[in-house]
Amino acid sequence: MGELTRSTAGWPSRCSATRRELAEYFPDLTARIEALPYPTDGVVIKLADREYAATLGNTAHHPRGEIAFKFTNIRRTSVLRKVVWSFGKNCLTPVAEIDPVEIGGVTITHATLHNVQNVLDRDIHVGDTVEVERAGDVIPYIVHSRPGENRFPAVIDRCPCCDTLLVRRGPELACPNPECSETRLQNLLAAVRNIGIERLGEPTLRKMMEVLGVRTLKDIFALNRGDILSLEGFKDKSAENLLAEIAKARVVNDYQLLAALNVPHIGLNVARLILREMPLAELRNADESALSGIAGVGPERAKALVRVLREQSDFLDELLNAVRLRESRADAALAALPTVCFTGKMPEKRSFYEALAPRKGFRAADAVTGELALLVAADVNASGGKLNKARSAGIRIMALEDFLALPDVEDNGAAAAVPEPETEKKEDRPEQLFLGI
Ligand SMILES: [Zn+2]
Repeated sequence: MGELTRSTAGWPSRCSATRRELAEYFPDLTARIEALPYPTDGVVIKLADREYAATLGNTAHHPRGEIAFKFTNIRRTSVLRKVVWSFGKNCLTPVAEIDPVEIGGVTITHATLHNVQNVLDRDIHVGDTVEVERAGDVIPYIVHSRPGENRFPAVIDRCPCCDTLLVRRGPELACPNPECSETRLQNLLAAVRNIGIERLGEPTLRKMMEVLGVRTLKDIFALNRGDILSLEGFKDKSAENLLAEIAKARVVNDYQLLAALNVPHIGLNVARLILREMPLAELRNADESALSGIAGVGPERAKALVRVLREQSDFLDELLNAVRLRESRADAALAALPTVCFTGKMPEKRSFYEALAPRKGFRAADAVTGELALLVAADVNASGGKLNKARSAGIRIMALEDFLALPDVEDNGAAAAVPEPETEKKEDRPEQLFLGI
């Protein structure tokens, strides 16, 4: 026995049914649900015998006695009235404007057409009859189309912003004009997000470009309080918060910078893999074959990388002048160093010696473990937890003055590493944040 329940006010029905009855009843139920005055995306089907249901326990997701049933196939027929090409990161995305249809209590007037390849492959024209589907929170999309009587091409050949002849990049349509203001805005927006200035959304960035003549990340770093206050909607507090976030983003991981160049298929994670192998300066002079040798970079990415690094060379120079760069290679070098731990009362704070460690060819560690290479003690003859542990583990022990007398390591990339910026925590933000229409 099953029981269909809907406790929300306005849905009067609650019925019990066998499994077969349930299947038969379902189309009628969905029709009634669609008529509800609020959006719904599914029903929960529960076992009627509550006591028995309770004995079944839970899976990781739901109690075994009930299951959520999402509606996936709600489709409606409409007519494609217009296709608007909206600017996204590096490309123009087709958005369908359709005659309004209601799906699951929501009036749909727009649907995504994904990319130019999809429009061409399915021969979609303005004036066609289209079937629109909406599943859950996903942007509605067009599943089928039938030629209409009067149909017009949906694909454009010139940029709606700057009138430049558009080009194809894989399945996408793109404006190749580096001065195109919409393309610049979208690229700058992606760059701003990649270096972690999260408060700076599209409307503000657009205003900055229009009112303050901002063109690049460097321009953003040069903004002062007065500039930001001159933008509509900013008050003392909000201007200060934004400025603080911009200032924080000045220390940039090299992989964030590389990802900020918007090379197709090179997001934060791939950028980091690349820069662990090859520092940015070297990367800029590398050819396709050298780049293809890096794990995770195939011929396609290598080609795109060479093209973008060349095209954006000036931008990159400008950026490198504006930010403090933190190198992934240096991190890797630092991680490879032997560890040192400090113990005993020393003339300076512990952090002073820990910061000094890379100059002496060591990485600071907190505790005495089997992997520790060296214990530096204020008094090597004293006895204490760390010292005793090191002695019994056979770890080398050195007096502080001897450690300080060690020669500095020359050309150690790790020594130049700047402190971890707080933005580091956001490094693994999913990249789909930057997608969408
Ligand atoms: Zn353009």
